[in-house]
Amino acid sequence: MESIAFADLTKMHKEIEEEISNAFHQVYNDNWFIQGENCKKFECEFAKYIGAKHSIGCGNGLDALTLILKAYGIKDGDEVLVPAHTYIATALAVSYVGATPVCVDIEQDYFAIDPAKLEEKITSRTKAAIMVHLYGQIGRFDEVKVIAQKHKLIIIEDSAQTHGAVYKKSLKAGHLGNASGFSFYPGKNLGALGDGGCVTTSEDEIAEKIHMLGNYGSEKRYVHRYKGLNSRLDEMQAAFLSVKLRHLDRWNMVRGTIATKYLEGISNTKVKLPSQNPDSTHAWHIFSILTEDRQKFIEHLEKNGVQSNIHYPTPIHLHEAYRELNGKVGDFPVAELICKTEVSLPLFYGMTATQIDYVISVINSF
Ligand SMILES: *Cc1c(COP(=O)(O)O)cnc(C)c1O
Repeated sequence: MESIAFADLTKMHKEIEEEISNAFHQVYNDNWFIQGENCKKFECEFAKYIGAKHSIGCGNGLDALTLILKAYGIKDGDEVLVPAHTYIATALAVSYVGATPVCVDIEQDYFAIDPAKLEEKITSRTKAAIMVHLYGQIGRFDEVKVIAQKHKLIIIEDSAQTHGAVYKKSLKAGHLGNASGFSFYPGKNLGALGDGGCVTTSEDEIAEKIHMLGNYGSEKRYVHRYKGLNSRLDEMQAAFLSVKLRHLDRWNMVRGTIATKYLEGISNTKVKLPSQNPDSTHAWHIFSILTEDRQKFIEHLEKNGVQSNIHYPTPIHLHEAYRELNGKVGDFPVAELICKTEVSLPLFYGMTATQIDYVISVINSF
């Protein structure tokens, strides 16, 4: 068996090469690369896919969250609740608008903010909560929402890992809070061929403001209503994303069949398999297992040619970049435990049955 990559886009991209090539030539021949018809078209398609009224393209997932916070007027002196266990972008967006990220511990089942630990972190300065749908599924969203609404917080979703996941059989991630940020980083379930991102929201005013904020705060050339930034989804990436969006549900289904094989096949008692929330479908962006013997486990995988990853080794409060939060080991025990024990297994469209079975057998022989 050759070594098995953690993620490999080869088969996915081979299958759509002609469609991508046509999209490239269309944009190339139109010679219009920023803020044109392709971006508008993709925004409409993505909004429709999510079920939200608006989708606004932007430069990447971090910018999507930053634009949302800026549009709601969140600023210096404000506090925004974030899970202690997430990719650092969630917290950085808060810092970029001058506000302070306040960590909340997660719960172990679905790796999302623990509703029981939210309220104690709310102060008179708290303006919003960012709910991260980590690894591909939605946590106890409604329970958190009730608490957040009681305190009149703005509810922001970070859906960067959850394109297409559905909550309580009706609403998609990206349509559960006031606004949601998406990333189209190449390795996400819906990935561009470079950087890209977008915001979804059903609030007209916020959508209009975000549209302007991402384009230097301007709607009409040289008329600037806000101090905006330059964060736009370019025509090339938008055209590629329109192609890929047509395949997303099928790709997600294939990810689901790989996950099912792992769930059924992995029987090693040293490995804790991921729990599925009955209230959410799972986009299986990351197949996340927990093991106490992580170092040895990873070495065993490596020795047998299986690549893996850790999402993520350090919780927000223990990053050097966030030393001003004065975080200590023990502050957020569940987040810290996940950071110490998590391993992400290979899972990508195009994994063969032989590869999947091989990974299972390597894990079971640990
Ligand atoms: C990928 C990711 C981001 C950042 O997206 P970029 O496009 O890389 O800026 C933010 N939050 C989460 C949870 C992510 O996985």
